[in-house]
Amino acid sequence: VDALDARDLYRFFRAGEEETLALRGVSVRVRPGETVAVVGPSGSGKSTLVACLAGLDEPDGGVVRVGGERISHRPEAERARVRARRIGVLLQSGNLIAHLSVRDNIRLARIAAPGKSTQDIAELLEQVGLAHRARALPQELAGGELARAGLAVALANDPDVLLADEPTGELDGQTEQRVLNLLRERASAGHGVLIVTHSPEAVRIADQVIPLRDGRIRT
Ligand code: ADP
Ligand code: ADP
Repeated sequence: VDALDARDLYRFFRAGEEETLALRGVSVRVRPGETVAVVGPSGSGKSTLVACLAGLDEPDGGVVRVGGERISHRPEAERARVRARRIGVLLQSGNLIAHLSVRDNIRLARIAAPGKSTQDIAELLEQVGLAHRARALPQELAGGELARAGLAVALANDPDVLLADEPTGELDGQTEQRVLNLLRERASAGHGVLIVTHSPEAVRIADQVIPLRDGRIRT
């Protein structure tokens, strides 16, 4: 079963007279153990693609499956359930609640996936190198720590696929390497990883690179 299988996605936006075709027949497959990098200029459809893959937006055409389960074209509550159990999402806006500690952010993420067996929080934090920061609030973390805390929350429910929009966008070289190593470990453990990135370093760790342009995969 593919970690992620998206077929022939279309997404139109209409604003007054103007119609934008943000996605025009995009297919993406992420196998277990694979890292996929989506690259492309601003406006090429990367954010729209991630939103559709995560079930945060509905494509107008095409189908998205995660771990074999369909997430597209279902009621919002069903999409949220599949997302919580099968997808880790790391958006640029961040995924941490400001007034909760790192540990409580992970606990909160887990409430959305009842019954799913997951590793100890201490173990998860150990993996991302934040064992000593469990009780810290997001605002108390340095940039690299914040990125890793976001990653721990995205991985809280042991997702089939991790979707990350510019996960290393604002990090220095050394911190970027550290985050990329964690993504690589995640894939090595047999999970899917998809990142939107402008970073050559991040592209280098990818098994498959998807170049988007004007809502299409450039051939
Ligand atoms: P990228 O992430 O590659 O910069 P986006 O997915 O944000 O690209 O945008 C792709 C195209 O779709 C752009 O032309 C953008 O202006 C348009 N678009 C994205 N979201 C909306 C929206 N909610 N309403 C109207 N147009 C949108
Ligand atoms: P990025 O290029 O960093 O991916 P964008 O500026 O393209 O970010 O988009 C940021 C947000 O704004 C997205 O949620 C996208 O859906 C929305 N958006 C982008 N273009 C438009 C637009 N023309 N009209 C309305 N919303 C838009």
